[in-house]
Amino acid sequence: MRCMKQSQDGARILIEYCAGALDPMHAAEVERHLESCTDCRALVERQTELWEALDCWKAPQVSADFDARLYARIAREQAAPSWKKWARRIFEPAVPAPFWKPLASLAAAGAVLAIGLMIQTTPHPARTPQVHADQVDIEQVAKALDDLDILAPANSM
Ligand SMILES: [Zn+2]
Repeated sequence: MRCMKQSQDGARILIEYCAGALDPMHAAEVERHLESCTDCRALVERQTELWEALDCWKAPQVSADFDARLYARIAREQAAPSWKKWARRIFEPAVPAPFWKPLASLAAAGAVLAIGLMIQTTPHPARTPQVHADQVDIEQVAKALDDLDILAPANSM
């Protein structure tokens, strides 16, 4: 028999079985499958534990003046000037904004800028000074070689 957990419908039926929402005929089918399938049996056991834990959970008592304080605060918020409402939205967001997100974009922009500057400052091969052989004066080179001979030690002659 194909495992019920593998199909979306089968998984839904298993959850409904755990919640006690299946009719007796379908519940009997599920129980027959559970006798042979350890995966589905484990899932049903975990789901049953969850339902039992939820049954034991007691919601904390709400204070007697909760409604009155809530409505008073809503009235205060609505009566506040609009600039104050905007300031609260920015500085007191309902969901705390992660501080690192703007820093990450700033770091990425800085990295792009640094790479751009490195590429810009790398000397271009066409701009490097080149020696042109046709501009070298042959007689000047010969004179320089003669000067070197004069500077050389006497015993090398
Ligand atoms: Zn199964």
